[in-house]
Amino acid sequence: MEKKPEFGIHCRTILRLLCGVSQINEHRARHEKVSDKCTCNGDVETVQHMLFKCDLTHCIRDTLWEKIELNAPIGLCRELLQMDIDVRTIFLLSAFKCKYVNEWERLYEAVAMFITVLYDKRCMERSEPL
Ligand SMILES: [Zn+2]
Repeated sequence: MEKKPEFGIHCRTILRLLCGVSQINEHRARHEKVSDKCTCNGDVETVQHMLFKCDLTHCIRDTLWEKIELNAPIGLCRELLQMDIDVRTIFLLSAFKCKYVNEWERLYEAVAMFITVLYDKRCMERSEPL
């Protein structure tokens, strides 16, 4: 199997988001005196907001999401598009809640890129550490 060092970074980001210890304002507001709102429109900045609603990452989100749709089996793609964003967020963060499927390697990469690039972009917009 080919070594992919970026997977370590992807795993770190996904674990932080799952465990609620990221730079997302909803997470930070639990431990720091900061607002839990996002600067784009005043909604609470949740992981779901960052992945699917934030205006600050709108353009790059669409490009990254297209790669998921291109690499997902048609049935899974349809299922993803029908999920509400709470369910879709957990489904993506938990790698589709199923055992590893070898044929989905490019799909896993597309999902990892979707999550980490949006998170990195969000942190860069605010000049915060990852
Ligand atoms: Zn936002």
